Amino acid sequence: MKKYNFGAGPGILPESVFEQAAQAVKDFNGKGLSLLEISHRSADFEAVMEESRQLVKRIFNLNDGYQVLFLQGGASMQFCMVPYNLLPDGGMAAYVNTGAWSKAAIKEAKLFGNANVVASSEDKNFNYIPKGYTIPSEAAYFHITTNNTIFGTEYHQLPQTAVPLVADMSSDIFSRVIDANQYSLIYAGAQKNLGPAGATLVILKDELLGKVQRPIPTMLNYRTHIDGGSMFNTPPVFAIYVCMLTLRWIEEQGGLAAVEATNVAKAERLYAAIDENPLFQGTAAKEDRSRMNVTFVATNPDHEKRFDTFSSQNGIVGLKGHRSVGGFRASIYNALPLSSVDHLCQLMDEFATVNA
Ligand SMILES: *Cc1c(COP(=O)(O)O)cnc(C)c1O
Repeated sequence: MKKYNFGAGPGILPESVFEQAAQAVKDFNGKGLSLLEISHRSADFEAVMEESRQLVKRIFNLNDGYQVLFLQGGASMQFCMVPYNLLPDGGMAAYVNTGAWSKAAIKEAKLFGNANVVASSEDKNFNYIPKGYTIPSEAAYFHITTNNTIFGTEYHQLPQTAVPLVADMSSDIFSRVIDANQYSLIYAGAQKNLGPAGATLVILKDELLGKVQRPIPTMLNYRTHIDGGSMFNTPPVFAIYVCMLTLRWIEEQGGLAAVEATNVAKAERLYAAIDENPLFQGTAAKEDRSRMNVTFVATNPDHEKRFDTFSSQNGIVGLKGHRSVGGFRASIYNALPLSSVDHLCQLMDEFATVNA
């Protein structure tokens, strides 16, 4: 049976990307060698790294002065690398706590200095994005999680500040048009919207670096990876190649404006289906709803198990909500087609008819 993958991560990627990746594992560039056995210093892989960097710069329209890195360790490694490299001893960084991933980032920052939580939505189980707070101007940087994968909220307006903006964009990177030049540092584990687990994209302004005095271990120092062109040591060759294929796919779609238009259509359709259906209820504040992770619950708890079974029987995969929210979470990442959203909406309608 056809599977409709609504999993939160690792998430769905375009079918054409899977096909090209599979081919490259068998025979890369017609060289008679697998992508998995070639040297990362070979001209063929150097070209993959360079094209990946250029695609990121082009898709985000990055000004000069930005570095694009492909690292390992996931977004979780960035929780520590960001303060390690940017938060001076005895200094302060401002964080907004919008959920489990923000919390994990704050925890690491506390190892290096004052992680100042300037706003939090914990009072309502993170179902909204805080607004109307002040960001102290002396902060070394201001950190946000642009999309909260677990709680289904997303920033639709950026807080305005002169403090360097740092963002965990793991689950909504390349899903919409943004002014990437407003950010000083963006990071994202690849496995939600960009590629397989194993690569982490980091985009940063060069000028941010060099302001902390502490010694930084070689592998955790951004400078190492800038100087090494993300090849200081063996990079995750396969993961980066698949990121490149996905980035090409984004350009082929017409870039971020086209991708965003499809994502808006998908999200509007699904939220409308939830709002119109008396058996289901969205969990996130309407104005802060995520276009990537749509969280909802059954209004009658008895229906939860039943819809879980019904949707699974009809090919839906990965719909179970995170345990801290419960209910359901439909992750509708870039590669998920509108027709899959239609399928889910139809199942919700049918379920309501049978169980009303
Ligand atoms: C998945 C996710 C993470 C964790 O990513 P890893 O690459 O597994 O470390 C961090 N932040 C957000 C927003 C996520 O969605």
